[in-house]
Amino acid sequence: MNKYIPERVNALSEYNPDLTPVKIKLDANENPRNKMSSMRDEIVCELSKLQLNRYPDPNSTELLNAFCDAYDIISTDYVVAGNGSDELISIIVSTFSEYGDSILVTSPDFSMYEFYSEFTGRNVIEYKKNEIYDIDFDELEKSVKDNNVKIVFISNPCNPTGKAYSFEALKKFVLECGALVIVDEAYMEFADSETYSFLRNASAFENVIVLKTLSKAFGLAALRLGFAVADKDLIKALKKTKSPYNVNSLSQAIGVIALKHSDEVFSEAKAIARETLRLSDSLKDIVGDELKIFETSANFIMAECKSAEKAGIIAQILKNESINIRLLNKKYLRITCGTSSENNELLCVFERIFKNEKN
Ligand code: PMP
Repeated sequence: MNKYIPERVNALSEYNPDLTPVKIKLDANENPRNKMSSMRDEIVCELSKLQLNRYPDPNSTELLNAFCDAYDIISTDYVVAGNGSDELISIIVSTFSEYGDSILVTSPDFSMYEFYSEFTGRNVIEYKKNEIYDIDFDELEKSVKDNNVKIVFISNPCNPTGKAYSFEALKKFVLECGALVIVDEAYMEFADSETYSFLRNASAFENVIVLKTLSKAFGLAALRLGFAVADKDLIKALKKTKSPYNVNSLSQAIGVIALKHSDEVFSEAKAIARETLRLSDSLKDIVGDELKIFETSANFIMAECKSAEKAGIIAQILKNESINIRLLNKKYLRITCGTSSENNELLCVFERIFKNEKN
């Protein structure tokens, strides 16, 4: 072992997603459509104007303006851009907490909150959601206070459960908990944002940061574009601590184009949400009591199998048909909504599996 590598780094595993090429990819909550086909001319035109010998705009000015227009945010003073929201999660942990401070994550939730917290020597407090993945916000508040928690992370809607928490419940928690609350709205375009979203109110609270990404509804995961929206002082702090050229010029330019098409993106997201519902209803019809399909407000569905072995077998049968879904811890599967024809192919395989099962 190389003595220059700290033990806490040796203890980590590399992030190794399954990169085997498959016909139908339903494992990463991406948008199934490639935006390159609809925006090619605009993208080529903008990219050809770039000066690649020059550093990117460190403030992502045009990108932030386009983001504010798309999401009705009154000023770019309330927003910072990141190299994906992953980068923003990491910067938030290091900016707003110290070594040894407590950071609360709910379980299950997006794994990167815990990863960046643990890796940087923060003390991770885990709050377990109940059997229907609800959060008792009074209990959560108590846990925050008892453990002197500095930062709370919550994805809304939640990855991997698909469950959404109301703005009103979150607002009460934010007002009373005394910690910085990070509300990650990566999937909010697929949900009823009137009921659930904190975005429009984020800048009015001194202890909320809302995270957004162009990796999901906008279908631009390859670009790595994330945003944090919050009160001016929090954003100013993040603008000081981020690396100066964190968002490259190509991503900034393509992000501006995409955000100008936000109306189309938002209506496509609603169509994806409807298709997710169709997929969920069809799955329920096929699997009966064999799997538990959870209600979702996102572009994916979580299913609970009777055993971890059963979950593994289903994922493997799908893989043999060149369909990738995500096998989660223990006995859970997470299935991203694909195009309707991709979903139909998936449903055919489920029909075969569960017809055999019933016979
Ligand atoms: N937040 C949540 C809840 C996610 O599920 C993901 C990606 N799976 C991210 C953030 C990361 O998004 P990005 O691609 O912007 O880093």
